[in-house]
Amino acid sequence: MFIKRVKFILVLTQLLLCSIVLHAQDSLRLNSSGFIPAEGLFKLVYVPFTVPEGVTEIQVKETYSDKGKNVLNLGIYGPEGYELGNTAGFRGWSGGAKTEFFINAVEASTGYVPGRIKAGTWNILIYPSTITAEGIDWQLDVTLIKGVEKESFKASPAPEVVNNKQGWYRGDLHMHTFHSDGKRTQQKLLQEAKANGLDFIVSTEHNTNSASLDWGQYKTDKLLVINGEEVTTTAFGHWNAIGLNPTTWIEWRYTLEDNVIATYLNQVKADGGLAIINHPFYNEERINNFGFDVDLFDGIEVWNGHAKWNQLDDMAVKWWDNLLRQGKKKIAIAASDSHTPGLSDNPVGSPQTVVQAQALSRKQIMAGLRAGKAYLAQGKDINLSLTAKLGPATAGIGDTLATTSPSGEVQVLFAVKGAPANCVATLIGEEGVLATEKAKGGSLNASWRVATGSTKYIRVEVRNMQGDMVALTNPIWLL
Ligand SMILES: [Zn+2]
Ligand SMILES: [Zn+2]
Repeated sequence: MFIKRVKFILVLTQLLLCSIVLHAQDSLRLNSSGFIPAEGLFKLVYVPFTVPEGVTEIQVKETYSDKGKNVLNLGIYGPEGYELGNTAGFRGWSGGAKTEFFINAVEASTGYVPGRIKAGTWNILIYPSTITAEGIDWQLDVTLIKGVEKESFKASPAPEVVNNKQGWYRGDLHMHTFHSDGKRTQQKLLQEAKANGLDFIVSTEHNTNSASLDWGQYKTDKLLVINGEEVTTTAFGHWNAIGLNPTTWIEWRYTLEDNVIATYLNQVKADGGLAIINHPFYNEERINNFGFDVDLFDGIEVWNGHAKWNQLDDMAVKWWDNLLRQGKKKIAIAASDSHTPGLSDNPVGSPQTVVQAQALSRKQIMAGLRAGKAYLAQGKDINLSLTAKLGPATAGIGDTLATTSPSGEVQVLFAVKGAPANCVATLIGEEGVLATEKAKGGSLNASWRVATGSTKYIRVEVRNMQGDMVALTNPIWLL
């Protein structure tokens, strides 16, 4: 697969700093401008400015040439610094979704982290993710407001436990609000998630944890909100860090060659979270194809958004299945990657991941997912079960059935309800299709037999008459 191998470096030679300071009673205005040539694609540019004592709010406005054809991403770091992994210095990111923002002690634009404005050197980070041959002329206007310091922002994260009941819980593991490039408020997202029958959502904004810090402000109505971040490395693919502490921010500013991603994956693990590769094939132009080592990750989003199944999802399922054949226990997940409210190509919950968990809590949902106790479904009406039996032993999705005695037959029971009429269930093992069964109406009950020792795993796909996926299970391992 083709991957752009670029190095993030400062392009100071192209950076023309012409700071003009206009003195006013209660504000300072700074202006910086420069030019990024076409070769500056994906190269990070840090624009420093000095904040004197007494400033209580920073306002930034970005303007640049050929907006639309060019995309100039935007973020900011405080005086704590901007070196890799510096969470204290990170004060927000809006990528290409905003061209202006503000931060003060109490509030900030979505995507940005409120808190006291400390005196010292701040840095605005810009970089082009799309650039024309003519390059980009850019300008940053910074307004520093002086005032009386207000009480500082306190994080208000979502509750981590909704109930302690064991069950199968329906969730969407990937979505966006105004905190990155989504087109909806957090409250609207919660309403949609409830209306679409979800029990939990994972909040995954691009490269910022600003939403994680204030989910607690909203009426969640027994919907579990789990914190995450879509780590968007742009040229090398996207991955979701899910199950994070609200104050955790995962670094994204590295290339394949930098060889540092393990540090940040360990940060996810330390929070009890999981790292999931998103939309590994993404689009026809092959940009954002995933370039990092799959062995470092826990799972793969094999079904990304679009109520309608497409060939990129098929490519992802094939890739995942190939890893299973190598004995690599990667979790398959489905998620909407929803950006817009209401009726759209990818509404919240379509598709979704249904997880068997001991409780509706961050800890237990993550434990169920980690164990692969999950199936993927097009929508809320689809329920399924898969069981494998050998003698007195029984295993469900994600479990391992001991099949050390070679002369036996595993009985496989599969049932689905709420599927489209005439769909077909296929039992798949490491050699491919083992059996098929056609549904009558939208329901199906199948009983199959698999010889022990013939496959390391079994899993089921349910597809409609057009061959589009309706549901699929994670495997039961036969070892
Ligand atoms: Zn993405
Ligand atoms: Zn996304």
